[in-house]
Amino acid sequence: MQTIISTEELKRHRTHAVRVSWGDREVVIGGGRPVVVQSMTNTATADVAETTAQVLALARAGSELVRLTVNTPEAARAVVEIREALDRAGCSVPLVGDFHYNGHKLLKEVPLCAQALSKYRINPGNVGKGTKGEENFATMIEIAKATGAAVRIGVNWGSLDQALLARMMDENAARDVPLAPEEVLEEALIESALASARRAESLGLGADRLVLSCKVSEVKPLIALYRKLAARSNYALHLGLTEAGIGSKGIVASSAALAVLLEEGIGDTIRVSLTPAPGSARTEEVVVAQEILQSLDIRKFVPTVTSCPGCGRTSSDLFQRLAASTQAYLRQRAPVWREIAPGAENMKVAVMGCVVNGPGESRHADIGISLPGAGESPVAPVFVRGEKVAALKGADMQESFRDMIEKFVLETYGTRG
Ligand code: SF4
Repeated sequence: MQTIISTEELKRHRTHAVRVSWGDREVVIGGGRPVVVQSMTNTATADVAETTAQVLALARAGSELVRLTVNTPEAARAVVEIREALDRAGCSVPLVGDFHYNGHKLLKEVPLCAQALSKYRINPGNVGKGTKGEENFATMIEIAKATGAAVRIGVNWGSLDQALLARMMDENAARDVPLAPEEVLEEALIESALASARRAESLGLGADRLVLSCKVSEVKPLIALYRKLAARSNYALHLGLTEAGIGSKGIVASSAALAVLLEEGIGDTIRVSLTPAPGSARTEEVVVAQEILQSLDIRKFVPTVTSCPGCGRTSSDLFQRLAASTQAYLRQRAPVWREIAPGAENMKVAVMGCVVNGPGESRHADIGISLPGAGESPVAPVFVRGEKVAALKGADMQESFRDMIEKFVLETYGTRG
């Protein structure tokens, strides 16, 4: 049975606000605050130079938290150096440590690592078995209490606590009307997260220091799972499809799952777990996360480009090149405009392929260009807020349009002369 809670109900059951900070930077997850974008590095954490460079790139792209694998003593010691290097570079993005199996040891043996991390991800399925597992979990919670770090209880169906699942399967088998195995699995994922959170609270870590996630790799089970999780608790929720996949499959699956949940008011921070194509930038997952939030009108990061798909009327690739270069320019300039021209992220830009819809769509945008289609005179009219202001032509059309966008941004949103 689906559990759907209305946006109104969710507003009444607002999640706890979890503050994750480093220096004077504070990121708040939950409590009705804007959904936070986070990402994870894929460099060897022990490689300080490479990991620092990637964290910087992710933070520059707009990742508000960056998670690192902390799997060995070398990695734990490297975290300290990475933090120092980031501070020297003026980057105060809070770091999250991803721990499995030996987190209790690493955090205890490398206290500077425990202090350099602003949040610990603990997977209840990977802390150890039985009493030992309980002790290991308690050790990590005690360290978080001491350092002020927040904690994510991050359950994943690929590493679910097998003892818990076996017990729940046995209990289910004894019921008069047993649930389907996938329903028991769903309940086990939720129970693993909630029981661990309750245990962390009983150990003295407040609910305002806890974030929960229950990740699976399929869209519909993820939606069903998070609806139940949101209905049953007020913990801040980290949302993401685990192992989303590569390329368009990963992007579409993540967008489909997250859009449904975010639209229902579920999810306080998101990560898009794309498998990177060889040679592609890790920052792609940040761009996709931002685009999901932006397309749902939840947050704005970069001006929106409206461009048509092109058709038989776009006989050269000029239109595609202009659309791509305009999109890239807006994304590249957005961090700068955030400082000197706040509000520019709300701007709408149109790049259109021909006279059929070009002038009309361009007039609806803040600034738009309508390229000449096949058989049209080789001139591209530019519209600013509905008025035709120029007609561009020639080889430097792309540069001229970029200059016009820059001028428009500074004149419209600029705060400095
Ligand atoms: S605006 Fe023109 S080029 Fe673009 S899809 Fe429509 S008809 Fe084709």
